[in-house]
This record gives sequence, structure tokens and C-alpha cells, in this order.
Amino acid sequence: MFNKRIKIKTLLAQDPESYREQEVTVMGWVRTFRNNQFIALNDGSTNTNLQVVAELGKFDESLLKRITTSASLKVTGAIVASLGKGQTMELKAASIEILGDSDAEVYPLQPKKHSLEFLREKAHLRFRTNTFASVFRTRHALAFAVHKFFNDKGFVYLHTPIVTASDAEGAGEMFRVTTLPFENTPRNEDGSVNFKEDFFGRSTNLTVSGQLEGELGATAFGEIYTFGPTFRAENSNTARHLAEFWMIEPEMAFYDLEDNANLAEEFIKYIIRYVLENNREDLDFLATRLAEEEKQLPQDKRSEMGLIEKLEFVINNEFQRLTYTEAIDILANSNHNKKKKFQYPITGWGMDLQSEHERYLVEKHFKKPVILTDYPAGIKSFYMRLNEDGKTVAAMDILAPGIGEIVGGSQREERLDVLLEKMKAMNIPMEEMWWYVDTRRFGTVPHAGFGLGFERMIQFVTGMSNIRDVIAFPRTPKSAEF
Ligand code: ATP
Ligand code: MN
Repeated sequence: MFNKRIKIKTLLAQDPESYREQEVTVMGWVRTFRNNQFIALNDGSTNTNLQVVAELGKFDESLLKRITTSASLKVTGAIVASLGKGQTMELKAASIEILGDSDAEVYPLQPKKHSLEFLREKAHLRFRTNTFASVFRTRHALAFAVHKFFNDKGFVYLHTPIVTASDAEGAGEMFRVTTLPFENTPRNEDGSVNFKEDFFGRSTNLTVSGQLEGELGATAFGEIYTFGPTFRAENSNTARHLAEFWMIEPEMAFYDLEDNANLAEEFIKYIIRYVLENNREDLDFLATRLAEEEKQLPQDKRSEMGLIEKLEFVINNEFQRLTYTEAIDILANSNHNKKKKFQYPITGWGMDLQSEHERYLVEKHFKKPVILTDYPAGIKSFYMRLNEDGKTVAAMDILAPGIGEIVGGSQREERLDVLLEKMKAMNIPMEEMWWYVDTRRFGTVPHAGFGLGFERMIQFVTGMSNIRDVIAFPRTPKSAEF
């Protein structure tokens, strides 16, 4: 058997005494090799390298020459207590096998600090850096926590389709899915493309959200969630937009807006607590990284709290809840607005909030996560439930410090007549949406749900300021390498 190895994380967690005289095998990649004697070996299980000692004179010069940065090794030997600083144990190598050479002349990553921008160009290798290893182990832990949270509550994980025919959701620009040829494209008499000739016999797109299908699940199982990729062809080159991102969308029958907000707050706190308890080493590393990065910033641009402190603050304090109408009042009366410091001035009730407004509320005014509810019907989607006042809908957005919108959700319009009227007014084609409307015809119930952008959540938890650094292979305008 080849893979009779112990992971470095497992090894380091043990008392070195328990390994006395025992032979272990580790495998991993060389981070550094000092004095022709000390190998820092990393196997991806932790950022802490295992020190492997190749005693002087014991190994051939030709072998030692091949121990270069990122070469892969299989090392067998005895664990001994270490005298070195910051490590409890080291491995005294009895045998070293080179599994794969790495030419130091051309290996792009040096054992020094690289910028995040540089590493984005080397995304195929960036997992081998401490920062990205910590980010992606944290991403994994958060994903696991998402499933655990919903599973433990009895939600059904529903896999909604990636290819969809409806373009009614209106969440963003869509990518078209087609097998039609670019040349001699089949056309109708009026010159438009004849999608009857296309693969699915109609025009199809990549999904922008699993919500509409999620509602079909919720109105049978009671509570479902989706967790999958979504796509938006929006040409926004920001640090918080991707063309391909992952979204978590729970959808619950017998929930109103308040139940929805309660669930979202509980969920966010749960997954943060989960990583604080289970991924502390990586979070501590990322906290230190962030603190160092912020040292470069002018005083007023630095965060008031460290990363861990911020996460603990979020799980230990209630989110601020207020209505859109109250938010407009706060914004309109703020000194920031009076001094004309917003790029988009507050023009009054009915306007859509820009991210600068959201950030003002969260970062300057409340200094904590905010749940904004009850938006004007005119700026929100057709499926959101009309409130008693006839002009607002039971929508909610959750805004997080440093990120802005992290959750968008609502109570859904369950009243058939109100929904049909709304669809007509907003030009939502019935031919495409008949199946959705059927849920309101056959045993309709009050229900609600929300969508959490997974990468924005990871940004919040890891302190990474660019969304491209929390997804393995970012898809953004003009960029789909790797
Ligand atoms: P924004 O105003 O920030 O573009 P949105 O209103 O388009 O967001 P929704 O349609 O409500 O967002 O999507 C639900 C969630 O998905 C958002 O709260 C956000 O966390 C995430 N999200 C939306 N668009 C993107 C994107 N392009 N890249 C990454 N995450 C996104
Ligand atoms: Mn958007």
C-alpha cells in the first residue's frame, strides 16, 4: 500500500512522547530546505510545516540537490522531541524518496511574500501558499457547516437546475446556453433566431438563482435549501461580484418575513461559530494576515476590530433590524448626506439604495450587521409579498460590515390574485411561469426564503477584501483562465 501516511496536522496534534521509537511516514511538498539539513514539509492539512531533519552525511548529495521548493517527498523516520523554537516535534529522516522534482529555476512561487494580485495570475498553484490554504480550508469548513445547520433542522437539500428556461427571475443578466451554430443560424421569417431548432427546443440560460424551483420544493417538503453555483453575466468589475458564484437558498413554507429574518440571523451566526470552533488555526492565521495588510492603510481606513474580535462580536450581538423607510430617514438626515459626500445623493423614498448607502448604515451608523426590510414594491421582484400599506413588499436584505449586501430575501406572494396582477404589471410572461403559479393554485401557504452569497460570506469570515481570492478559479469579465 502506497498511502500509509499520517497527516501532518494529525501528527502535530499528538504528544511527541506517544510516537517515541515509532516509525512514521509523511508525504508532502517542500516549503524550504535550510543548511542542507532542515526540510520544512507541508502536506496541506495545516499551515504548520513539519520539520524533517536529514542528518548531515546520511544522504547522497545527489538526493539532497533535488530537495527544492515544492518538490514532493515521501519521508519515513522517527519522531523526536524538537529543540527548535515553535515546534514540539520533528521527524528524523531514515529514508527520503523524491516523488516529484520541482525545478527551482522555473517554479513560480518563491518562499517569500507574494502579492494577492500576483497569486491570482498563478491560481493553479496558489493553494500552496499559507494564505490560500487557510482561505480554502475555511471555505470547506463553512460549506460543511451550511449542510450541518440545515440537515440538523430537517431541511431537504434540493438540487435545482443549472440550465433554466425561465428568464423571469430578473436577478441579473444571463448567460445563454445554446448549441446553435454561429453561421447559418436557423431563423424565423421575421429574422429572429429560431430556438425551436436549439438543443432544448427553446431558448435556455444558466441559472441566476434556484429560488423559483426552491419554492416548488418548500411547498411540498416544508423546508428546503439549495447550495449550488449561479451565474450572472453582469459586467461589474467589483471586489464583490463574480460571474459564477455559489449561493445558498433556503425556502420555507409556513414562514413570514420575521421568521425568515430570524432563520437568516441564526444561520449566519451558526456557521461563523462553527468555524471559530473548528477552524481556529486558519482564522488566527488570516487575522494576522489582515492586521498586517491593514498596517499599510491610512489610520481611518483600518478596521476598528481585528478579524476574530469582529466575528465574535457578530455572533454575540443582535443584528440591527429596521425598515427601508427608517433607513431613508437616517440617510437623508445624516451629515454625510448634508455635506454631499454620497456619490448618489439621497433623493427620497422610493430610490434604490446604492452600496455606499448600505455601507454607511452598517459601518458608520450602526457598526453591526443590519437587516433592512419592507422595501418599495417598485424596486423589488414580482414574487415578493405586498404589505398591507399597498406600496412596500416584505423583502429583506442583510448587510454586513465591509461587504455590503450578503443576503437578499423575502416573504413570497402566496395570494394568487395579487401575484397574477403583479406579474401582469411587471410583464412577467405566464407561458413561462405557469408551473410557478400552480403552487398558488393548489394549497398555497405563506412562505419565505433568502439567498446568501457564499463567497461574500467567506470574504466576511476570512477578511479577504477581493472576492476573486475566496473562490478557487474566479470567473469575471474577460477572465476565465484555469
Ligand atoms: P448586489 O446588489 O450586490 O449585486 P443582488 O441584489 O444582485 O446583489 P441577489 O439577487 O439578492 O443580489 O442575490 C442574493 C445574494 O447573492 C446577494 O445578497 C449576494 O450575497 C450574492 N450575490 C449576488 N450577485 C453576486 C455576484 N455577482 N457575485 C457574488 N455574489 C453575488
Ligand atoms: Mn446584482
